[in-house]
Amino acid sequence: MSVSVYAGRRPPERVPHRGAVQRAPRGRSSRTILCVRRCRRDIPFSVASMPFPSSAGVSARMSKQRRRDTAPEISVRKLLHARGLRYRVAWPIPGMKRRTVDIAFTRAKIAVFIDGCFWHSCPEHATRPAANDTWWSEKLAKNTARDLATNEHLNRQGWRVIRIWEHEDPSEAADRIVDEVMRVRARP
Ligand SMILES: [Zn+2]
Repeated sequence: MSVSVYAGRRPPERVPHRGAVQRAPRGRSSRTILCVRRCRRDIPFSVASMPFPSSAGVSARMSKQRRRDTAPEISVRKLLHARGLRYRVAWPIPGMKRRTVDIAFTRAKIAVFIDGCFWHSCPEHATRPAANDTWWSEKLAKNTARDLATNEHLNRQGWRVIRIWEHEDPSEAADRIVDEVMRVRARP
């Protein structure tokens, strides 16, 4: 049966790095390792140490994961644009390496994040794959801690943070954002 061939695993070309190597080879920093699976590049250890997706559902979620330009994010952006707002997309956060604001209003100092229900543990749809349970709890807890640290960092720099779940209605989300931007702009 073709279904069972990759039971619990995806062909390597679908997930090139995951599970590639377990330890950093000699001479490489512990933060990156050489991907022996396919690309032969240095990749972050956190990526290489991800377990193989344990089911088709998990696998689909993992492969759908994108840092930006997710469908809910695009709908919200389009609505904001239609309402005449201009913003920066994937704006790098000063003082935080490799972290970006999904939709940034730099003058008003409003940071909008569209959080995926799975990756950011939405209270309504928080599911966790049954397999690799410890790994996943740690991974998802780390994401939550990271979100909090990002919020705090931005707040300290005078930014307001608006977090939107991907399950939220895009037009309601856009309304919230527009209200906030208008409120800040109306301030003397
Ligand atoms: Zn949700």
